[in-house]
Parts: sequence; structure tokens; C-alpha cells
Amino acid sequence: MKVVQSTEIIYSVYECGRRYIICLERKICNCGRFQLDEIPCAHAFAVLKKKNIIDIHPYCSDYYKSTALANTYEVPMVPMPDKED
Ligand SMILES: [Zn+2]
Repeated sequence: MKVVQSTEIIYSVYECGRRYIICLERKICNCGRFQLDEIPCAHAFAVLKKKNIIDIHPYCSDYYKSTALANTYEVPMVPMPDKED
């Protein structure tokens, strides 16, 4: 993939004859994956790699972080009564 910087936060990524526009600040790519999955798509990763950014945490949703997973199971699970009851 070829990465071309347009502005400080907007980049074009060329792949297989297609051009993808990535905005790192808004966390969007016109492939749709970056904003849908809330984690960098392959095009956004190409931009982050070109910028030598190795900490991708700011570009990922909190849903992917271990604290969110731990909070999911923070509420105690109450066992269900027997099906006969
Ligand atoms: Zn993309």
C-alpha cells in the first residue's frame, strides 16, 4: 500500500488501484471498517505504520480494552432456579 499525506490528519492510501481516504482524528476510512469496527482497518494501519505510531490504543474503541472485558463480568451472576421451579 502506498500512503500519501494530505494534511496532518488526512491521508490517502492506494491499494490495488483503489484510493482510500483516512482521517485519523475522526477515525474513519472510506472502506468503512475503521468507523464500523472502531479499530484501525488495514489502510489506517498503513498510515499508522508510516507515521511510526506503535501505540494504537488511542485509535481503538474502549470495547477492545481489557478493562472493558473485566467490567463486563463485574456484575455477579445469579444462578437460575431449577427448571421444575
Ligand atoms: Zn480502510
